[in-house]
Amino acid sequence: MKFKKTLAFAQQLDKEDKLAHLRNQFHIPKDKDGNDWLYFTGNSLGLQPKATKEYINQELKDWANLGVEGHFEAKNPWLNYHEFLTDKMAKIVGAKPIEVVVMNTLTTNLHLLMVSFYRPTKTKYKIVIESDAFPSDRYAVQSQLKFHGFSEDDIIEWKPRKGEELLYIEDLEEIVATQGDEIALLLIGGVNYYTGQFLDIKKIAAIGHSKNCIVGIDLAHGAGNIQPNLHDSNVDFAAWCTYKYLNSGPGSLAGLFVHEKHSKNKELPRFAGWWNHNKATRFNMRQPFDVMEGAEGWQLSNPPILSMAAIKASLDLFDEVGFENLREKSEKLTGYFEFLINEINSDDIKIITPKNPKERGCQLSIQVKNADKSLHKKLTENNIITDWREPDVIRCAPVPMYNSFEDIYTMISILKGLL
Ligand SMILES: *Cc1c(COP(=O)(O)O)cnc(C)c1O
Repeated sequence: MKFKKTLAFAQQLDKEDKLAHLRNQFHIPKDKDGNDWLYFTGNSLGLQPKATKEYINQELKDWANLGVEGHFEAKNPWLNYHEFLTDKMAKIVGAKPIEVVVMNTLTTNLHLLMVSFYRPTKTKYKIVIESDAFPSDRYAVQSQLKFHGFSEDDIIEWKPRKGEELLYIEDLEEIVATQGDEIALLLIGGVNYYTGQFLDIKKIAAIGHSKNCIVGIDLAHGAGNIQPNLHDSNVDFAAWCTYKYLNSGPGSLAGLFVHEKHSKNKELPRFAGWWNHNKATRFNMRQPFDVMEGAEGWQLSNPPILSMAAIKASLDLFDEVGFENLREKSEKLTGYFEFLINEINSDDIKIITPKNPKERGCQLSIQVKNADKSLHKKLTENNIITDWREPDVIRCAPVPMYNSFEDIYTMISILKGLL
């Protein structure tokens, strides 16, 4: 598509945008004079859908009126509340319902998954991560290694080449080809939080499996942003949070995926609680443990309904809109953003995110010359909310649910002035 750098053109794109009405269904934070912020941090904390309050109020009301009976009598009975989320969440990550459950938080889920899928032996025990893995993922992996009597040095890093920012799949191939016999697990961010690079998950799975390594994917920056097609990708497991692109509120629960090929394997070692025990006999006390099939078989506790209500509100909206429609708009929004940044033509900034729309989601990571953090501060003073990541990157995510082409145009006009 041919873009133009005029306000009228941006407004025309908004007029033609079939999803433009969605912005109205979100609370857009404002400055003290009542002007909307230009919010580009849906990759960090997604905005609140206006409907969320009603969903949570419904549960508060049922709790007030029904007490414990709400488990069965609430409008949305709490006992199996997580099941209301499963089908819609499965669609968002391209999975079958049996492969998905919403539970716990992201890092907790990564640990529970590694309990089952990181099964090191004396000779095959190393773990591959990206050199720029999100800190929580790195700490989780380090602690798993130590827990099994290995050391932090047993991490193998998949690194960008010298002087570059992005990862090459060929370099992962090389790591696995040469060291695969020692590698037990690949745990990779599907969309890198720093560069915004969307990696080829299917290829990563094939590379790992070629040397009998287990492959897990962190989709914190993927879920609700790109379509990972988890089932077809054949990865063994995945986990993601819901407070970034999935707009489900600060610290909200996470998703977990275990591929169908593992769903009936009751021999997989795992931690247990009453919630991964057979639903039919869960409340018959004094039962031997009988694990459930599928992703539900990794649950431990009965779920926090208030947080799930916020997830339900968000997933209902995603389902109504259709993820493919969001993705279509997203490619256009980010393409326009990229076009306008390139038009500024300044040596002080450089986009490090891949140029190919198939290798990125909505986020563009802008590297700032000399790591000049004052640029980020000035943007914030101008009501432009972006995210500074050490050492030298401003991350900006125009989100198709609530960002407009005019947001982008205005942001760039201000950025240009600041440069
Ligand atoms: C946001 C994010 C996390 C956060 O983990 P929590 O357990 O939800 O606090 C972890 N990993 C990645 C890759 C993330 O982007």
